[in-house]
Amino acid sequence: MSKLLQRAYSPENFKNTGHHLIDMLSKHIGQVFDEDLNKVINWSEPEPSLSFWKEFLEKGKSEALFEEVLKRSTHLHHPKYIGHQVGPAAPITLLTSMISAVLNNGTAVYEMGMVTNPMERIITRLLCDKIGYNENSSGFLTSGGTLANLTALLSARKAKVATDVWNDGHTKPLGIMVSEEAHYCIERAAKIMGLGEKGLIKIPAKADFSMDVSALETEYSKASEAGIKIFAIVGSAPVTATGILDDLEAIGSFARKHKLWHHVDAAHGGGALFSSKYKQALHGIDKSDSVVIDGHKMMMMPGITTALVYRDSKTSNATFSQKADYLLEDSSEADWYNSGKRTFECTKNMMALHWFSLLKTYGEELFDEYVTNLYDLGGVFGEMIRNEEGFELAVTPMTNIVCFRYIPNNEGLNDEQLNSLNKLIRQYLLEDGEFYIVQTTLRGIHYLRTTIMNPFTTKDHLKKLLTKIREIALAIPPLKGESLPH
Ligand SMILES: *Cc1c(COP(=O)(O)O)cnc(C)c1O
Repeated sequence: MSKLLQRAYSPENFKNTGHHLIDMLSKHIGQVFDEDLNKVINWSEPEPSLSFWKEFLEKGKSEALFEEVLKRSTHLHHPKYIGHQVGPAAPITLLTSMISAVLNNGTAVYEMGMVTNPMERIITRLLCDKIGYNENSSGFLTSGGTLANLTALLSARKAKVATDVWNDGHTKPLGIMVSEEAHYCIERAAKIMGLGEKGLIKIPAKADFSMDVSALETEYSKASEAGIKIFAIVGSAPVTATGILDDLEAIGSFARKHKLWHHVDAAHGGGALFSSKYKQALHGIDKSDSVVIDGHKMMMMPGITTALVYRDSKTSNATFSQKADYLLEDSSEADWYNSGKRTFECTKNMMALHWFSLLKTYGEELFDEYVTNLYDLGGVFGEMIRNEEGFELAVTPMTNIVCFRYIPNNEGLNDEQLNSLNKLIRQYLLEDGEFYIVQTTLRGIHYLRTTIMNPFTTKDHLKKLLTKIREIALAIPPLKGESLPH
């Protein structure tokens, strides 16, 4: 073996670099305790970042690589990280990530997944039970909510459309119904499936951003009259931008009435199945046909790992099957241990290890505590904003996602100016780096958007965030009469 290959595979090098890295990573996640010394984000513009890494590849010291990666990334374990929906992974899942990488058992076939296929079976059984599905249900893990939603909609088409689109292609226009507030991946899935613009029937949202279920019948009739055969409806639990949950009960009744597949995109909120307090908000989920739950959103795992579960196993076995008449093929259920038959992936990470080790080490109460605390804090933050002079909520939060804006009450700014002001505030926050929050536009209004993902975030941090926003806003020159560049 060449010297270079020997060096690349040296167990001794692995051990030495590994020990050093574990020390560094422990310190990194320990930032929760000395937050004042560290920023959540050391903002760098894209071009300088690119130059830095180009130069590093040429002249940087390899020993400094991991340190630079840490320094230059956004720090999710920091309690002032209140931004996107991926959260700080629980430390044990950092270790299972490493085992997954070492073993690299691709899981699609049993021989390359003798551990993870049974684990997936156990984990998805638990999720099915939590949902309220019976013993005919089953599921698997896959790489992300986006892929899982696409997979579910392919299953839906196979189950609900009489023609064999998988083998014969489209012979007539098909459609799915979804709230206009749904995650953009549903639209992508529809377009990938060749449904086109007309095949994506967007249902308007109500003032509170949940799907306006009273519009369903009219939209259904309109599409049917236009010759579109609707085969599925997607409920969001919750929608991404505002964290508001659709009425799954009402969507389910509508789906059953018209014999549609009812898919629930619970990528963010599925973890609430474990929360005795917030499970109620998912009522109706037990009557759905399929559910997507991200492990890397509200279940403390590293990206990416998603559970996709089906009320009826047979429909999942059929998704990629070449045979049209799959319903006769019960025997495929006996083949659960070759999970690649039901997933897009051929090789995937041993993601079941994250779920299994969290359950084994801490029990399912861990998920209850995590979700319940963070949803609670979302509510507290909503109240705080409501009572704080100069701030306005987009909507009363139902989860840990909270959207709001700053409105100085004596300056008489119009909405365009307020949009500019809030965009500027967010830009200042980004460049400052003490906090990390994001932003979104809802019905033309620009909001600051926070997702409380870190169990170390407290009411006090949130209070400080509002104070900081106020200070930033006061330091921005008056906007009256002029509109800022976007
Ligand atoms: C995050 C999210 C997705 C996308 O999931 P990924 O795992 O990021 O691919 C889909 N739907 C909803 C509602 C989400 O919040």
